[in-house]
Amino acid sequence: MTPPVDCLNNIDELPITNDEKRSIYKQWARSENSGPYPDECRDLTCGAKTRAGTPCKQKAIYSNGRCKFHGGLSTGPRTAEGKAKSAANGFKKIP
Ligand SMILES: [Zn+2]
Repeated sequence: MTPPVDCLNNIDELPITNDEKRSIYKQWARSENSGPYPDECRDLTCGAKTRAGTPCKQKAIYSNGRCKFHGGLSTGPRTAEGKAKSAANGFKKIP
């Protein structure tokens, strides 16, 4: 059932989609000292497609915007410094 038209006119901001919420959340999660948790992301769910075909309802979301089951693996070090650090793992460091 759709709400009456005059009811829709009273809403100042249109409801944003889960994907838009997720992009706002990602921006917030990846920037340091970004301030308080964004209000529009309060009920953000993972939303990934489950094996049952329904959207995932987990609310504990990582900085990648998905839950612990749907975030995927780390893609490894990105910077040259990080790559050098990880390449040095397992070797004895001689001072
Ligand atoms: Zn999920």
